[in-house]
Amino acid sequence: MEIVHTIAEVRQHVAQARQAGKTIGFVPTMGALHVGHGALVEAASKGSDYVVVSIFVNPLQFGPSEDLERYPRNLEADAQFCAERGAHLIFAPSNKEMYPREMATSVTVDALTNTLCGVSRPGHFRGVATVVTKLFNIVQPDFAYFGQKDAQQLAVIRRMVADLNIPVQVESVPTVREADGLALSSRNAYLSPAERRAAVVLYQALQAAMARLAAGERNADALRDFLREAISREPLARIDYAEVVDAESLQPVSSVERDVLLAVAVFFGKTRLIDNMLFTM
Ligand code: AMP
Repeated sequence: MEIVHTIAEVRQHVAQARQAGKTIGFVPTMGALHVGHGALVEAASKGSDYVVVSIFVNPLQFGPSEDLERYPRNLEADAQFCAERGAHLIFAPSNKEMYPREMATSVTVDALTNTLCGVSRPGHFRGVATVVTKLFNIVQPDFAYFGQKDAQQLAVIRRMVADLNIPVQVESVPTVREADGLALSSRNAYLSPAERRAAVVLYQALQAAMARLAAGERNADALRDFLREAISREPLARIDYAEVVDAESLQPVSSVERDVLLAVAVFFGKTRLIDNMLFTM
């Protein structure tokens, strides 16, 4: 496995792999890799011949008061982690390599971004769509792998790829969780021991709401209240949102008639965690 830092080097390696008749799989990440990312790399290794992982903490997708500066970075450990899971190339560009001058162009996905994280993180999905478009153009993969953990991001990328006819097949990977149910996230590292213990409330509340759905509850307002109450019982939790939305449009629903996504974003201290579960009818 090789680590490269420039776009030219990526193009060279990918061109070689293509010449050898290999399919290209791509996993975009911001590093601080954990077993959740590992599942994406493993899926890529199974699904394609040559696997590229990008590690780039993209400033465009962070708001002014967010954690860009303190976001965990550890390229050596990340590279080793990817090598063990079958990656062939790591692309770890500098900000300057990705953004040599101020961007005059951005990619905005109008649908799907006026709810959930789009409300509390204005500009976030524009930053994500723009960097993913750049990365797709740099790597030109056949397959790209994204986690269900970031369900809205996945939906936004799928829509962007369809709308703009980007020649890549988007694959999703189920959320990987800790033994107690907490979804793995690079941001879990920020949690104090007490916050870490408290954070399991997200999984528990989502599970309990899923059980209600399975038992036949179809009143989405009641489910929403139930989710919010369940999370609020944890004193260290401060809800950003707890929603029941249509799985496709991501718009809030008042009754459950089609597949729905239960989606939550909750602060523990300064750390904002998200999680979701999909209920299929
Ligand atoms: P990030 O480095 O946080 O930008 O995440 C990179 C990719 O890993 C995204 O597609 C995420 O959805 C995915 N991912 C992050 N955490 C998990 C997890 N616990 N399970 C599955 N995929 C994940």
